Amino acid sequence: MSQAEGQGVAAAWPRDDGGEWLVGGRPLSRVVAEVGGTPCYLYDRGRLDERVAALRRDLDDRIDLHYAVKANPMPALVGHLARRVDGLDVASAGEMRVALDAGMDPAHVSFAGPGKLDAELAQAQAAGILVNLESFREVDLLVAASERTGTPARVAVRVNLPFELKASGMKMSGGAKQFGVDAEQVPDLLARVRAAGLAFEGFHCYAGSQNLSAEAIVEAQQRSYDLLRGWLDLLPAPVRSLNLGGGFGIPYSDRDRSLDLVPVKRALADLAGRCEADFGAQARIVIELGRYLVGEAGIYVCRVIDRKLSRGHPFLVTDGGMHQHLAASGNFGQVIRRNYPVAVNGHRPGSGTVSVVGPLCTPLDLLGDRVELPDAGPGDLIVVFQSGAYGRTASPRQFLGHPDVVEALI
Ligand SMILES: *Cc1c(COP(=O)(O)O)cnc(C)c1O
Repeated sequence: MSQAEGQGVAAAWPRDDGGEWLVGGRPLSRVVAEVGGTPCYLYDRGRLDERVAALRRDLDDRIDLHYAVKANPMPALVGHLARRVDGLDVASAGEMRVALDAGMDPAHVSFAGPGKLDAELAQAQAAGILVNLESFREVDLLVAASERTGTPARVAVRVNLPFELKASGMKMSGGAKQFGVDAEQVPDLLARVRAAGLAFEGFHCYAGSQNLSAEAIVEAQQRSYDLLRGWLDLLPAPVRSLNLGGGFGIPYSDRDRSLDLVPVKRALADLAGRCEADFGAQARIVIELGRYLVGEAGIYVCRVIDRKLSRGHPFLVTDGGMHQHLAASGNFGQVIRRNYPVAVNGHRPGSGTVSVVGPLCTPLDLLGDRVELPDAGPGDLIVVFQSGAYGRTASPRQFLGHPDVVEALI
């Protein structure tokens, strides 16, 4: 990655006269001192708000915006977003607790995941949240829980779509998948839900993640909608929620182009109209977004503890690494390793190619592979941008026994 590439994504963050990155309007060194030092993840409230506003602008008001807590379950951040989105999507009882603690009405919390435990299903039923059914077993367990409490569980059917999301970083439907039930089995599952007397509320589809192509996203949402519409005659109850997934990606380097929301919003407005006509005005289309809401609002900050020269190649050894930011090391599902945008805080003279590494005894502990940076040494702060999603909780923090990383909402 050239310096220009890294600086492009980073340039979205303002700097002060001394070249310090501004977080929540304050210089980074001060914010780091305030949270107790490095390493740390810092999430900027203003940037979260800007992102929600950008999504809402010109979005048809029949579309509901949900946050997928998995991307970043930090309680303060979820609490902040809970007041700005229409619902929260969780993938475990732990995330369910975070969502409910954040003050989200259980009516607007939904639970997906291929291996829901008996106890998790019972908790979800008791809390009154929407369960996205992914197997026939889940129906049986929810019937039992519903009988115990006298309230039918709220359910939607998660569909393993018969197609993939094209050009996606991670494909989560099409072919044989552990997620949802195959479209071919949906009529049987709907019949079971009807016979069981569960409170049917709609469908959930999720084709994939990290997609920067508006065309591919629109195509997947339209095909998902057409498929769901085909089951109109089999519905146990009126549809209230049609969750068409998300998959909106963010640029991780300057070779990536930001997703163009305009055609996506236009297509969603069209689908909202069709949805109202086909399913009735009570039916709402839901899109669920994780990294798109939070990824660009967060940075990871570590400090250079040593500068070493090995056979002519300089290494900046930092107090942070893959144990806290697995994704930036390129080991979180990436097919080809690419550097996250990395920068030095504050103006520094000079420039050269260096590798930024962490303190672990493994060559995988790489935060920047041969990046172009100004001259930096012990004490300098290194910033990894685009780090608001899949950071702390997606990392093997106990690996090598270093202390945990601090997170702060600024
Ligand atoms: C992981 C996941 C998301 C969030 O994905 P992002 O790429 O962070 O937007 C949303 N929905 C489901 C079902 C998921 O599994």
